[in-house]
Amino acid sequence: MANLPFKLNNPELFRDKALVGGNWIDSKTSKRFDVVDPGNGKVWATAPDMGPDDVDDALKASHAAFQDYRKVNPRTRAQWLLKWDQLIRENRDDLAQIVTYECGKPIFESQGELDYALGFTWWFAGEAERVQGTMQVPAAPGRRVFTVKQPIGVAVALVPWNFPIAMILRKAGAALAAGCTMIVKPSPETPFSVGALAYLAEKAGFPKGVFSVMPTSLETTPALSESLCRHPLTKKVTFTGSTRVGKLVAKICSDGLKKCTLELGGNCPFLVFDDADLEQAATQLMALKWRHAGQACITANRVYVQKGVYEKFTQILSAKTKELVVGHGADKKTTMGPVTTDRSLDKAAAQVEDAQKNGGKVLLGGKKLHGTPGYDGYFFEPTVITGAKDSMLIAREETFAPVMALFEFDTEEEAVQRANDTSMGLASYFFTKNVDRTWRLLENLEAGMIGMNTGNSSAAESPFGGIKESGYGKESGKDVAIQEYMITKTGTLTLS
Ligand code: NAD
Repeated sequence: MANLPFKLNNPELFRDKALVGGNWIDSKTSKRFDVVDPGNGKVWATAPDMGPDDVDDALKASHAAFQDYRKVNPRTRAQWLLKWDQLIRENRDDLAQIVTYECGKPIFESQGELDYALGFTWWFAGEAERVQGTMQVPAAPGRRVFTVKQPIGVAVALVPWNFPIAMILRKAGAALAAGCTMIVKPSPETPFSVGALAYLAEKAGFPKGVFSVMPTSLETTPALSESLCRHPLTKKVTFTGSTRVGKLVAKICSDGLKKCTLELGGNCPFLVFDDADLEQAATQLMALKWRHAGQACITANRVYVQKGVYEKFTQILSAKTKELVVGHGADKKTTMGPVTTDRSLDKAAAQVEDAQKNGGKVLLGGKKLHGTPGYDGYFFEPTVITGAKDSMLIAREETFAPVMALFEFDTEEEAVQRANDTSMGLASYFFTKNVDRTWRLLENLEAGMIGMNTGNSSAAESPFGGIKESGYGKESGKDVAIQEYMITKTGTLTLS
């Protein structure tokens, strides 16, 4: 067992192997890769570098498990999901520590991620028993037409590092409830939280091979992902990550005509109108924007504030931002941690530089802390930029770092036009007390999810997913999410 930089109440949770067909194994090449704590830049553990040579065994084992699992009564699947849910709940604080050391977020946020993620195991346990087909009496006499729903087969999940528990439970909850088996390929940054989930899935009673995990390094990721997606026994691919990689995955899936769900990047607008409760809007924005140092897909990327309240809102927001405590996620005083990879630091610095060159003003922060005394980890100052323009990089690209850009607008029409002026369509937020405007904005903003006087638009019971280049398919919510893992078969019967 590795010598961990933190203490687990249940040391069994730490798994530094892959799980294939119910066996904890190393890769065929025996290669391993380093996992770094973003809070100090140091390697704290290694994981097996699973590659294309390991894929055939994994798919065959998962497919074999599917032959039995598909026949398991939905109530039994629901009971296993509820047991899993209970075990995750019991080990919440240990799991949160693993998340913090993998991706850097403060411990209270990791615990919050666990609480949010547990909504999915709970919700999909209920969904398992509510899948229904239909029966129809068609126009042709003496006939009956039925539809039956069946699990599609082995599902492959490719997931990002920013919510390494929630992104998996949102997918696995639906897949396992539907009767599919699943192979998860986690991000190279976060291979251990999913290992812990897999260990608890075994303890919950899921049969061997139902839930498998294949960690891999950054270098091997493209080859492993492609082999997993192309394998003929893979019947469904569910991807959460960037739009760039999502498009690659969609192309691979289209070769095999595989059913595919894509949860991709965002460039979400956050609109504050003159008549908004500014204190409420600022509080919600603080939670939304600084969560995981700006690294949530549904974070506010472009904050549009109406002219009459621009100055006042900026002041409220700046005062609150100054109170942030930047530090290692495991330190209980920390309210904002590092970014997860050092790659994000340069992108953030380039966006700030571009904004400054084009007339933006850096009101707070603006620089990398990484490398300065006391900050060995991947830290960037919480940054507020005013006078932002739509032509700036900060408006055109997803920032994914703790940099907040404030744009000024005049009219509602203008705000909607500018909010929609992006290829992305994940989430949009607005704050107003005008009911008519609320309805208009709900209809006119181009996004899959709309937060109205709230920065919190995601929950197990509501469908999650974007439009435009933010992807297709829905996760969570009634009916729609579980259907992503099912086929519909039509039966026509002639009565004698
Ligand atoms: P990413 O696209 O780099 O990686 C996502 C997954 O794809 C990871 O498992 C990664 O290892 C794998 N991958 C990377 N390169 C690959 C390649 N060439 N071929 C095949 N697989 C590859 O994304 P990320 O940096 O891990 O996550 C950040 C992105 O994810 C942001 O754009 C964010 O908006 C998005 N995201 C979206 C949602 C959503 O629900 N819409 C949720 C979280 C994150």
